Amino acid sequence: MKIVFCSSEVVPFAKTGGLADVAGALPLALKQFGCQIIVVMPAYRCVREANIKINKINNDFSFCEYKGVKFYFIENKNYFDRVGLYGDKTGDYKDNLLRFSFFCSKFFNLLEEIDFQPDIIHCNDWQTGLIPVYLKTKYMNKQLFKDTKTILTIHNLAYQGLFDKSQYSLMGLDEKFFSIDGFEFYGKINLLKAAILFSDWITTVSEDYARQILTKEFGCGLEGILLKKKDRLLGIINGVDYSIWDPSKDKFIFKQYDVASLDNKSYNKISLQKQCGLAESKDVFLLGFVGRLAEQKGIHLLADIIDQLKENHMQIVILGTGEQKYHNLLQQVSERYPNFLSLNLKFDEVLAHRIYAGADSFLMPSRYEPCGLGQLISFKYGTIPVVFRTGGLSDTVFDSNKDTQKGNGFVFEEYSKEEFWRAIHRAFKLFKNKSAWLNLVKKVMGLSFSWEDSAKKYLQLYNGIRKT
Ligand code: ADP
Repeated sequence: MKIVFCSSEVVPFAKTGGLADVAGALPLALKQFGCQIIVVMPAYRCVREANIKINKINNDFSFCEYKGVKFYFIENKNYFDRVGLYGDKTGDYKDNLLRFSFFCSKFFNLLEEIDFQPDIIHCNDWQTGLIPVYLKTKYMNKQLFKDTKTILTIHNLAYQGLFDKSQYSLMGLDEKFFSIDGFEFYGKINLLKAAILFSDWITTVSEDYARQILTKEFGCGLEGILLKKKDRLLGIINGVDYSIWDPSKDKFIFKQYDVASLDNKSYNKISLQKQCGLAESKDVFLLGFVGRLAEQKGIHLLADIIDQLKENHMQIVILGTGEQKYHNLLQQVSERYPNFLSLNLKFDEVLAHRIYAGADSFLMPSRYEPCGLGQLISFKYGTIPVVFRTGGLSDTVFDSNKDTQKGNGFVFEEYSKEEFWRAIHRAFKLFKNKSAWLNLVKKVMGLSFSWEDSAKKYLQLYNGIRKT
């Protein structure tokens, strides 16, 4: 089976969030099952900085082979040779519609150039949303794509690629598609909406989120069209790439460890405290947070419980970047409590690994969470997650107090600072019972969320679609 996997960010070339992790790992897992798979993404500036040799095909395309998979890059210095992927400090790039229309259009030229006849084109999020549309319009009669089917994976429904109608002509499509059955969304162009309508199948990254997005509360205005396509919507949970996220092999952490060498986890804790300027102590309860600073991630809840953390002599290391208002909020909070809160407002891969390894508990007070990777990574590092029950978090984290069998973390079910704090406090109580805590740490380290199982589900879907 021939598959093209198309994503606007892919580890190890470009990353702002979980999409990149997925796009970097799923193709590799599918390759293990014998799929002929290639990955296509934009040639951003950071692609050149990834220290992997890239070969030029011509002025428009380049490629490299990485871990046995071929990665192709769409070149255009004007559009992609920039500091950010989608924007900079001042906000989103104003020409994002042009940039990603260009990308989606060149995508087809690339497949023609390398003569790759795909059975499946697997698109991800709005940046690749024009591909299913172009396939069913401009490329409908091309021999190369006559049997090609498309899948769209939604990693976060809240990001839809909304643009002013005045930019419509940039996409090179007939005006007739700007309608209620096409791009039109409250007078604007909505790329994700069109992608949902034009794709053969839609997936999202957990079963619970697949249910949630059909409701008004989580549907972000697209619940109506998703409901219409619900027999072609599937939730498949993300996996973790254990070749990157495994404390027994992790080159970024201070000392590698596994269940048999948990003293080294304590070493990581002390070293993290030292790096972050916190008092060094094995006995202090150390919390970690790594994530985009966006409303979804519950940053205000995090800010709201800082007083309690301080009263209970806990420490916290926060790593994140995102909306300016959350940078300001966290900055204010951290200035009040300099010695026990370490605030790192940046994207830092190495520090992220060190937090997963060094913290006792990992906080995810997300208002909603399509899948969430932090909790899955934390398990592997023996770091107990404290999460809100939603989406992928509710599919993967079970409260240790409630469910002794499946219990692997702490879950709060009412979205309030009080309940969040209670969940942290329950984790803290267990932490003080050293042997019970150790048992839980060992248990979660043994859990597996490898890509193998999820890749099998995608493969089943690909096979099913091919027959239709
Ligand atoms: P989302 O895709 O919504 O941002 P996920 O939990 O699915 O959230 O994935 C987030 C990924 O990005 C994880 O691998 C996490 O470690 C990483 N990450 C998020 N923020 C940062 C940061 N500031 N520095 C380093 N890694 C980060």
